[in-house]
Amino acid sequence: MDENSLLNQAFLADHRLGKCDLISGVFQDKQGTPLILPAVVECRQRLLSCHAKNRYLDPEGMAGFNAAAAKLVFGAELIDVFCAQLVTLQAPGGTGALRLAFDFYASSLHGKRLWIGTPGWSNHQQIAVAAGMNTVSFSQGLDVNEWLGELEMAQPYDAVLLQAGAQNPTGVMLEPEEWHKIAELCRRKQLLPILDNASQGIGQGVDKDAEGIRIMAQRCPELIVASSFSKNFTLYNERVGAVSVKTSVPIFAVQAKEELRTIIRTNYSSPASFGAEIVAGILNDPVLYQAWLSDLAKVRKTLADRRTSIQRLLCRKSSSGSTPRYGLFLQLDISPQVVIDLQQKDGIYLLSNGRLSLAALWQQDVEEIAATIQKRRFSNELTSLCDGQ
Ligand code: PLP
Repeated sequence: MDENSLLNQAFLADHRLGKCDLISGVFQDKQGTPLILPAVVECRQRLLSCHAKNRYLDPEGMAGFNAAAAKLVFGAELIDVFCAQLVTLQAPGGTGALRLAFDFYASSLHGKRLWIGTPGWSNHQQIAVAAGMNTVSFSQGLDVNEWLGELEMAQPYDAVLLQAGAQNPTGVMLEPEEWHKIAELCRRKQLLPILDNASQGIGQGVDKDAEGIRIMAQRCPELIVASSFSKNFTLYNERVGAVSVKTSVPIFAVQAKEELRTIIRTNYSSPASFGAEIVAGILNDPVLYQAWLSDLAKVRKTLADRRTSIQRLLCRKSSSGSTPRYGLFLQLDISPQVVIDLQQKDGIYLLSNGRLSLAALWQQDVEEIAATIQKRRFSNELTSLCDGQ
């Protein structure tokens, strides 16, 4: 099991009052009740007042959802350019979309090796291995030229997993010129980019967060995008996602769709509908769409304010210096031992790489949490000094 799941279990089993869950990127109040975006609440109410349509969906999901999801990811202009080369199918969340992407790639003649950037999301590795792929890590540091150097070792037809938008855990967002360099390398070395679009709209905005995907789609003959609608629609347990495949020629798109339909049919037959109806209801209604965009703008502002407050209180820059950071997570420059102390002594739960969820960090708690982190960090440094380390 990955670290996220183990920590969630440990958090649930912890009976201390005042324990604090900074593990996952879920917006919640102090009692741990998830917060739902107002546009989503509105659309949900409308759907609940209609008759339930309890029938199976097609394996590829709802047509209205798939078209709207593709437009959100690629933008209307590119959809026009690539319409015959692009297929988008509904998936059970971003995880389901990634698994479909990996199964699809693994079912191809060449698809066996996947390059995964670190630091990253711990589940990437597990999903890839479960899909029967060999994985290779590359260090996804601040200098893109460095990791491009590592990717020079990749062989033709290897796949490279990249995070679109704000990266988990670092919050880094790549610049357009960096995406152009990556696209150039993938093209030259005949690598297949697989883009994880986990929180479109939560970094810098729906179009800005998709910029890398759109650059790659224009420059690379083939690519796959796995999109999640869990965080940007606060629909976590409704499991809404989509997998998109852009192929070099239209006939391959037809084949890709057939292959994906078969993978879906033999795994879970067809997806669930309610969450996808909400997403489609918002994306296809101009008024709700505008409401959703302004909900997301507020989310971004809240996250940025929390990031600034805790960083100021911790009186240190993150390990990353002054590169701007966005999105749900803040990676603290603290040792795994400090993370263990915070969990065991204070009931504050975060990942061992120092990742803290800003979505779960309640503004009123910022001061207290920052003070506790400082205290643990200080006493750890003192211990190390005394031990002569
Ligand atoms: N990719 C990344 C980077 C994530 O952080 C997550 C979820 O936290 C996912 C994919 C999976 O998304 P979902 O929760 O929709 O399965």
